[in-house]
Amino acid sequence: MTAVNSVKTTCPYCGVGCGVIASVATDGSVQIKGDPDHPANFGRLCSKGAALGDTVSLEGRQLVPQVDGQSVNWPAALEHIAKRFSQIIEQHGPDAVAFYVSGQLLTEDYYVANKLMKGFIGSANIDTNSRLCMASSVAGHKRAFGSDTVPCSYEDLERAKLIVLVGSNTAWCHPVLYQRISKAKQDNPDLRVVVVDPRRTDTCELADMHLAIKAGSDTALFNGLLVYLAAHDESNDTFVSHHTEGLDAVLQQARRQLPDIQTVSRWCGVASDTVEAFYRWFAATERVVTVYSQGVNQWSFGTDKVNSIINCHLLTGRLGRPGMGPFSFTGQPNAMGGREVGGLANQLAAHIEIENAHLRPRVQQFWQAPRIADRAGHKAVQMFEAIGRGEIKAVWIMATNPVVSLPAADQVRAALRRCEFVVVSDCIANTDTMGFAHVRLPAQAWGEKDGSVTNSERRISRQRAFLPAAGESKPDWWILSEVAKRMGYAPQFDYTSAVEVFREHAALSGLENQGSRDFDISAWAALSDEAFHELIPTQWPITVAHPMGTKRMFTDGRFFTASGKAKFIAVEVKPPAIPTSAQFPLCLNSGRIRDQWHTMTRTGKSAKLSSHINEPLLWIHPHDAAQAALVDGGLAQVVSQWGDAITRVRISDDQRRGEVFLPMHWNDQFTQHGYADAVINPVVDPISGQPEFKHTPVKVQPFVVAWHGFLLSRRQLAMQEVDYWALSRGDGFWRYQLAGKTLPAQWEAWARRLLCCPDPGINWIEYHDRGAKRYRAARMQHNRVESCLFVAPTLLLPERGWLESLFVKDVLSDQERLGILTGKPAKAMIDPGAIVCACFQVGIHQITHAITQQGLTSVEAIGRVLRAGTNCGSCIPELQRCLTKPQADALQA
Ligand code: SF4
Repeated sequence: MTAVNSVKTTCPYCGVGCGVIASVATDGSVQIKGDPDHPANFGRLCSKGAALGDTVSLEGRQLVPQVDGQSVNWPAALEHIAKRFSQIIEQHGPDAVAFYVSGQLLTEDYYVANKLMKGFIGSANIDTNSRLCMASSVAGHKRAFGSDTVPCSYEDLERAKLIVLVGSNTAWCHPVLYQRISKAKQDNPDLRVVVVDPRRTDTCELADMHLAIKAGSDTALFNGLLVYLAAHDESNDTFVSHHTEGLDAVLQQARRQLPDIQTVSRWCGVASDTVEAFYRWFAATERVVTVYSQGVNQWSFGTDKVNSIINCHLLTGRLGRPGMGPFSFTGQPNAMGGREVGGLANQLAAHIEIENAHLRPRVQQFWQAPRIADRAGHKAVQMFEAIGRGEIKAVWIMATNPVVSLPAADQVRAALRRCEFVVVSDCIANTDTMGFAHVRLPAQAWGEKDGSVTNSERRISRQRAFLPAAGESKPDWWILSEVAKRMGYAPQFDYTSAVEVFREHAALSGLENQGSRDFDISAWAALSDEAFHELIPTQWPITVAHPMGTKRMFTDGRFFTASGKAKFIAVEVKPPAIPTSAQFPLCLNSGRIRDQWHTMTRTGKSAKLSSHINEPLLWIHPHDAAQAALVDGGLAQVVSQWGDAITRVRISDDQRRGEVFLPMHWNDQFTQHGYADAVINPVVDPISGQPEFKHTPVKVQPFVVAWHGFLLSRRQLAMQEVDYWALSRGDGFWRYQLAGKTLPAQWEAWARRLLCCPDPGINWIEYHDRGAKRYRAARMQHNRVESCLFVAPTLLLPERGWLESLFVKDVLSDQERLGILTGKPAKAMIDPGAIVCACFQVGIHQITHAITQQGLTSVEAIGRVLRAGTNCGSCIPELQRCLTKPQADALQA
């Protein structure tokens, strides 16, 4: 098909912020490729970015506004929201309402939401789901630097001699940066990579050293490093004396708790000679970048962890110069943009603190606002607790799915159930949160929206529209402005385009700034519409003095504290807020998998992305699995004091003993009872408000069933009379993993109900071995398979690969038809097995077969034979594992 429209935009998934070129073909399909000119990715994309074209269909979209389940026009919906919010504010005060926003919003959306809540409603009850991924980094930056400043650029990864990746499965969560590090290592064999992570993740394929520390013991590791560096005369005395303050007290405390490496070794559960080797590398290498991510942030002491890392860089003066610095990789595409506008409940706007009594009235004046919030509002977890207590009576949730993504998610559901007025604006109609909405608003999706985002290296990029708005969907900034107008603030919200909002945001960043605040993009305050359209990705600050932006911060050793000096922060090594116990003996860690994003509302639409891991999995060490009587591939129930989840078991010695891992993505649309956040502990960091997603005491036990099965169907089916199901999309079909506690008494009747074909005239074939309790059935139509079902009393079921391939065919051959109930083709073939390469759908069995039969010894050789790993490269770490551990063949879905 001919491409008729090619537009440069930005990937909407992670904080890497890759540039994308989207081309719409004459048949409406969307082709995606990496933008070779974008400085974040230089043309690379990971599996999620490469599959963006699969996710832009209108399927599942919210297309019209709805009030109480009835479709209404926009004026009616907007009037209703304005009236209900105004009534509640009048009766109960401004703190009785709240906005819960998202790192998926564009900066312009975020700006208008923040302005309306803090300046016009007069409350700071606006918080963002970015609170869940990086609030501890924000708080740590502010404590050390006096500002929420990321000092580094991605380029520093290529200029470093040592990269320490702490609590960051970069290979899966920031794959393009993993690829940049991998390439840097190829180009510079002297570059060393250390991974600090309790799990042996795919990121370890790149590591020269892996410190599999006990969950949460990073503070001990870095406090111990501080002590080591000071003891070995590795401090940069000139930098410390001219540009920092507070070292002595911090060192004293660190020495008291961690006098020697043996003590560090005991805290971390890592051999002391390994700890010492890491310390020696760090001490001996001037150009060190320490990357940290959610494994650091998502703790009840995440802010302390961040400062323990920053302390080591301050002691050695290793920041503000090429190839060095502490570097937080943000989770979401616009978490940074949200921070810039004040989308967090404890910031005012433009990196101005809410407590700043001098600038607060100036911001009010700038906005021409009748009032302004003067104290912090509720942070995410507390916001939903306040809703649960009835203190917040109206909430507007934008572009996020908190009933799946917040900890203790069942409590969040209960809170929304009792909330008087819930508005949800989203591009997707059937998110779990939408089910609680009194008003549902259709927001524009990626590809339709226009505005800007900021990535992890402070780089502002444009998201540009390349598709027409679906149905009656509107930009979030427009929806908010229209409600603001109806609440009586028309002159201050009279925006007609995203660029008007952006100019105001840029102007506010320059308000009485003159270098006193880090965030300043005032050089863009008078940007023309055309210049905004053409904007090239640029790192802030962007000022008249630095119109092309700023690659690196703190180059002059000046910080944004009152003294201009960076602060060492004393950090005590602490255990988790709620320790494991005899009742809940395991530590549950939660996080992302390679090919899914957040709660799967978009990535779940892609068959390619659903092929790598298609069911919620519990990773568990063999010893713990044996103790709990769990078997690989069986089902487990994970139980905490907050809730439980049912998942498939993946036994792996990549896990530490005593710690288990569960992905965060699954929701009610894709599994019956597998969402991890029902189990997660709602304790938060007292400074940052970030929840402790990385440590929940749990117990695990077998989920005992009488049968296992799977079902492939061209249509989505209502799951009844099964006790466990997980759904994923295939190419032209839906894939259900099933299990049940009791065997059906009437197999055929049960199967026909499940496959939704009660009509006896339907072309139906079946096989039933009553003795072995095996049942197989297929529904055929015009010689093609409509659905097929396989049930067995054990996990011994046919491979799915060949059966799945039948769904792309409109007519089956006789041999194929005969093979259906055996689950395999007449002629032997290698079933692909679980998919490793999403781009070319290459499975684990094909890879291991090629390695053993053809003697392949490199990733490149696998690529030449099977094409795996030759497109986006996200599967390369797994291919490497196949080479080193072919016998594992472990990615059984
Ligand atoms: Fe998107 Fe992948 Fe780039 Fe992240 S690394 S921005 S998910 S393409």
